[in-house]
Amino acid sequence: MNIHTFLKNVKRLSGKGYLIYIVGVSVLCIMLSQFSAKSHFRSWVHRLLNKETINKSVEYEAGTEGDYGQFLTYYRYNSFDACNPDEVDVNAPMIALTFDDGPSEKATERILQVLRDNYSHATFFVVGKQSDKYPELIQSIASSGCEIGNHTYDHKNLTDLNAEEIGQQIDDVSRSVKSACGSDPTVIRPPYGAYDDEVMSLLDKPVILWDLDTEDWSSRNAQTVCDKVMAEVKDGDIVLMHDIYESTAEAVELLVPKLKQKGYQVVSVSELANYKGKQLELGTAYGKIKQ
Ligand code: ZN
Repeated sequence: MNIHTFLKNVKRLSGKGYLIYIVGVSVLCIMLSQFSAKSHFRSWVHRLLNKETINKSVEYEAGTEGDYGQFLTYYRYNSFDACNPDEVDVNAPMIALTFDDGPSEKATERILQVLRDNYSHATFFVVGKQSDKYPELIQSIASSGCEIGNHTYDHKNLTDLNAEEIGQQIDDVSRSVKSACGSDPTVIRPPYGAYDDEVMSLLDKPVILWDLDTEDWSSRNAQTVCDKVMAEVKDGDIVLMHDIYESTAEAVELLVPKLKQKGYQVVSVSELANYKGKQLELGTAYGKIKQ
């Protein structure tokens, strides 16, 4: 078709009112294509649907009743990268919650429920003895989208062991976790955070420590644990807890909604590294993960 035929056709169609139809369909197509992307149109719909929350956040921002964390909530709602609650906004703050020494009947499933309810993940550094005892909890951790880390078979200080014993402590957890959920632990946390050059050279997964210690084993008090995290938390933190105390499960119930309200996204350690664009390397011990 040359340009003359084209213009003639346009003229003919517009004469019959088709032009309005064509323009209408085009606008609709543009709107629909925009809706699938992160776009102004999607933002507009998001604003419309979340008017109340956003207005409230604007109040926080104005400083009437809020603080910096609440401003982050405002930022998060207005960045519109997080329209789906389980979508992570890489530009907004995030932290990794980690749970050691489990799984246990006292706390693990209760913690998983809080994480599921809040579209959040965590890393569980399991002990092989417990993993052998509760394979269904290992499955539950994995099916919740959480990460499983290796915390040795029976919570040994690895610096006291020889190479063969260290290998055994790590391999026995891998075997136990793999038989329960089908995959290997992806990271390692040596008990007591204790390692030396020899231990480090033998560990075949990235070593994860922490930079915010809740001391939940000491206080055994949910409110104390929650208050400590809320007072000290910063973007990129790795938070240490233990999923073997009821008080810790209760602390998580208080804490996760509070963190979300403050604008923090709660993710597993490997997700934190991934979203922060960091490749976790062997031979390095990570206490926090910043951009
Ligand atoms: Zn431990």
